[in-house]
Amino acid sequence: MPRENHQEFAVIGLGRFGTNLAIALEEHGHTVMAIDLNSRLVQNVVDMVTHAATLDSTDENALQAIDISAFDTVIVAIGNDFEANILTTTTLKNMGVRRVICKAQTSRQCDILTRLGADRVIQPEQNSALRLAEELSTPDIIERFNLGGHYSVAEIILPACLAWQTLAQTDIQNKHHITIMLINRGDEVHIAPKADIVLQEEDLLIVFGQNQHITHFTRLS
Ligand code: ATP
Repeated sequence: MPRENHQEFAVIGLGRFGTNLAIALEEHGHTVMAIDLNSRLVQNVVDMVTHAATLDSTDENALQAIDISAFDTVIVAIGNDFEANILTTTTLKNMGVRRVICKAQTSRQCDILTRLGADRVIQPEQNSALRLAEELSTPDIIERFNLGGHYSVAEIILPACLAWQTLAQTDIQNKHHITIMLINRGDEVHIAPKADIVLQEEDLLIVFGQNQHITHFTRLS
């Protein structure tokens, strides 16, 4: 991995999420320190990450001893013991760790951790449930890149009813509130397609817009 992309991560809490994250980051070429109270869980990953330590992350001295503030990002993957999650997060921020990412189990926990200074809070179970629901509800979207908020860039097949019209005739931007960024047609790629291009059946479109508008657009027939 190019040096400029290399980062140093510490992952605190080696449940299923923390363990998978630590191993995946290491596989991406980063330096990872895996931490847990439970030495058995630390032993499980010791051969798969650069550093591993058994310690209580609510203990500032223990974190100081491993020079935690030298890490670019620390991920707090403690789920059930919310008090330990809060104490760890506030200690890390007080110690000057630049980026602290926390795992929460509920939106209320999300709010609390954000107010306590977490730079980012994620709810993995909720996020993947929402993503799956969205994917199952919009089978015509081939690929979607969520931009956060309500916006996405998505790859979709041109709705058949719009074929054999120029882009100007379809008036997609005004009528459907989405922007066509690219048309992929076999070997041809039209970036920022012009108004006079004739749309064809089976054209693959890369579009940008609000999720609800993209979903509505794919359902045109
Ligand atoms: P998952 O769903 O990812 O399996 P979880 O959300 O149920 O995990 P927990 O099992 O509650 O999360 O916590 C993850 C890990 O965090 C546990 O292995 C636990 O030992 C560790 N942990 C809890 N408190 C501390 C602490 N103070 N210091 C270090 N590790 C801790």
